[in-house]
Amino acid sequence: MNLTKDKNARGFLFLMLSVIVLFVSVVCLVINNRNNQIISGATIGETDKVQEEKVTEKAEENETEKATEKVTEKKENKKPETTITPQTTKQQVTAVAAGTIDNPTIITIDEKNWNLTLVNSGYRIPEEYKPDLVYVCGSSERLDKKVAEHYEKMFEAASKDGVYLTPCSGYRDYELQKRNYNNKIGYYESLGYSKKDAAVKAATIIMPPGSSEHNLGYAMDIVCVDEWFEDTDEFQWLMTNAADYGFILRYPKDKQDITKVTYEPWHWRYVGVEAAKEMKASGKVLEEYLGAN
Ligand SMILES: [Zn+2]
Repeated sequence: MNLTKDKNARGFLFLMLSVIVLFVSVVCLVINNRNNQIISGATIGETDKVQEEKVTEKAEENETEKATEKVTEKKENKKPETTITPQTTKQQVTAVAAGTIDNPTIITIDEKNWNLTLVNSGYRIPEEYKPDLVYVCGSSERLDKKVAEHYEKMFEAASKDGVYLTPCSGYRDYELQKRNYNNKIGYYESLGYSKKDAAVKAATIIMPPGSSEHNLGYAMDIVCVDEWFEDTDEFQWLMTNAADYGFILRYPKDKQDITKVTYEPWHWRYVGVEAAKEMKASGKVLEEYLGAN
């Protein structure tokens, strides 16, 4: 009888325990579920925020890209590529104004009118420009192939008159021009000029890189580089005959205010026979002839 009673009591206890375990399990499950909802809610919120931030960042990036594009466009607009030709009217030249010594206009060469390409401190050829060069008159000096044949004809004609137009300095590359120009700037700075003034002063003697006709291969310094050259037979011969071969005295004494280059009796530039004769007759320098002064 006692045994049966005991058995019943144990069975009841087991049942109660099972009920309690079940209840606790259900409670835990509910709590866990609620927590999960809270956690995932927070995660969703955070994800949204991150995504939102990413979208904002992207938008900002796009804005920055656009702004950069605009700046680049503006910069590119600042230096338009120009072609100066005899057909270029005064108005056109004014519209595409010459750059400054600090911010020159980079030109492209018009293949048809290459002989009238104007370079000076305001108009320059691009650094990568490479002319087709040949050696002239058996010397170590080179000129653009298109110019060299005219120089040789002039040299032969002068030789027949007993005058020798010895090539002294023809083509110079961009890098050499840059070195020479910077050395000159350094020289004027050492004399106390400001960097800007030294650059302007240096440009009257050595053209900045890209602005020299020697970089084009269109000009030759003849015989020697000294002002007394104007007293020689060579200079007199050139003054009389060079235009017939398409060459001009590029930097005359009375036009320094226009060319911005000191008088150089030795520097002769090829422009073609027609233009050379017209310039000789009118007394105009290239800037005036093209209406670009
Ligand atoms: Zn020269």
